[in-house]
Amino acid sequence: MSAVSRVVLATRNEGKIVELRRILADADQKTELVGLEEFPEIGEVAETGLTFAENALLKAHAVASASGLPAIADDSGLCVDALNGMPGVFSARWSGSHGDDAANLRLLLAQVADVHEGRRGAHFACAAAIALPSGEERVVEGTLAGSIIRDPRGSNGFGYDPVFVPEGESRTTAEMSPGHKDAISHRGRAFRALVPVMRQLLGA
Ligand code: IMP
Repeated sequence: MSAVSRVVLATRNEGKIVELRRILADADQKTELVGLEEFPEIGEVAETGLTFAENALLKAHAVASASGLPAIADDSGLCVDALNGMPGVFSARWSGSHGDDAANLRLLLAQVADVHEGRRGAHFACAAAIALPSGEERVVEGTLAGSIIRDPRGSNGFGYDPVFVPEGESRTTAEMSPGHKDAISHRGRAFRALVPVMRQLLGA
């Protein structure tokens, strides 16, 4: 890309916008990320997909065609081995109401209460997608493996961070600095992988 390209970030989640801007700003100076607040007429896109990639692409396409600009979107969640990979794409609405992080976390802990140490493996997964108004699309994924502890620790991050300890770490992702989490996280990995793909698609 020779000039700065404007790309819409297809989310209204403030925490996510801050995190994605930080990750993409480190990796790519040539893309100006525009928030969805510039497009109040674009409504919520229902996450009807059964995979993270499907949901990320759904959101990116909806926003690209409504805004007329390239759009990037992500979908992410926690996949717990003992729950056969659930909550997965249902992570944000696991307890029934969308985005109630505390209720989701409580329910998950109750569900794995009888699962012994050594069998509490899990991973965070994130799909990051870019779609153009022409319909072209790319999607990449990132994961972070770890395990679920019994007692929540830490107040950084969001969602299931207080009960997730990445492999090789002693702290939960809620006890890490934002920079450290970005460096190892599923979202950091997916979005860093998206940068060269995005450059190529937008015309380097
Ligand atoms: P999304 O906004 O549809 O991608 O939903 C993501 C949901 O997955 C969040 O509401 C959290 O419950 C969970 N999740 C995804 N990434 C993380 C993370 O980095 N930390 C903690 N929870 C996460």
